[in-house]
Amino acid sequence: MYYGAIEAGGTKFVCAISNDDFEVLDRVSIPTTTPAETISEVFNFFDRFSLKSIGIGSFGPIDVNRSSKTYGYITTTPKKGWVNFDFLGNIKERYNIPVAWTTDVNAAAYGEYKKGNAQDSSSCIYLTVGTGIGGGAVVNGNIQAGFGHPEMGHVLVQPHPDETYQGSCPYHDNCLEGFAAGPAIESRYNKKGHELENDIKVWEMEAYYLAQALVDYTLILRPERIILGGGVMKQKQLFSLIRTEFGKLLGDYVATPDLNQYIVEPGLGDNAGITGCLLLAAESADGKVS
Ligand code: ADP
Ligand code: ZN
Repeated sequence: MYYGAIEAGGTKFVCAISNDDFEVLDRVSIPTTTPAETISEVFNFFDRFSLKSIGIGSFGPIDVNRSSKTYGYITTTPKKGWVNFDFLGNIKERYNIPVAWTTDVNAAAYGEYKKGNAQDSSSCIYLTVGTGIGGGAVVNGNIQAGFGHPEMGHVLVQPHPDETYQGSCPYHDNCLEGFAAGPAIESRYNKKGHELENDIKVWEMEAYYLAQALVDYTLILRPERIILGGGVMKQKQLFSLIRTEFGKLLGDYVATPDLNQYIVEPGLGDNAGITGCLLLAAESADGKVS
């Protein structure tokens, strides 16, 4: 019997199975097309195994409120065809086993908390900076949620004094995702992110935005560690630029851990999400509600 994991992204779904030690024994990457097509590929993968439970970390927004009629659905996503898709219901109907349900970034935060760069901490935030920006937080082993899951990518930021771009978020004029996600960088400069590697001004502006958000998260949650992942963070020079800008913006008002240990890369690399999904699958098999 295996644990199953589904890391559902807007570009691709990664499905994996593991043994009890969370060693991945098989995995597949499926392009995200229509729900019908994509889910049928997900079934093709998992039908080959005998599963104890599954953990899903999904792109969102998703409904995580158990008392809601649309619990388990993807809700207001801009991704065509996926609005109001009953993701959890489809998986449960097929397999009739415990299924853990959370966001992709919550799963990644949980993976890092248990097995990655926040193993020695009792709280952490995981932020992905990719096609979109999203974040999840774990405090004392619990994934944080209230009325809904956090939407850390849409916190409001001050435009950079040299900003020429109007922002890409259809909902907000001045939000982090609108100015700092991969597509915003590419639209502002009309080039792919990796082609801008040597243009320091690009990454200084990016750090200006991300540092503002990190100051907000710090003041609201006072976490012990902030882990930054996603495609844009492949630009490793961003880490020191963000730390410098963060220090300037926060001032000496409150203490944080040493910034080199506070703002860090994922310890699990690109496996943070899938690891978190497997861990959550194991907990749901044990009857723990996630
Ligand atoms: P997703 O968010 O779809 O799961 P990623 O986290 O890989 O996928 O993010 C993709 C985005 O990251 C793209 O919009 C691209 O602009 C940006 N990106 C990917 N690789 C790099 C890189 N090496 N440098 C800068 N930006 C990158
Ligand atoms: Zn927004």
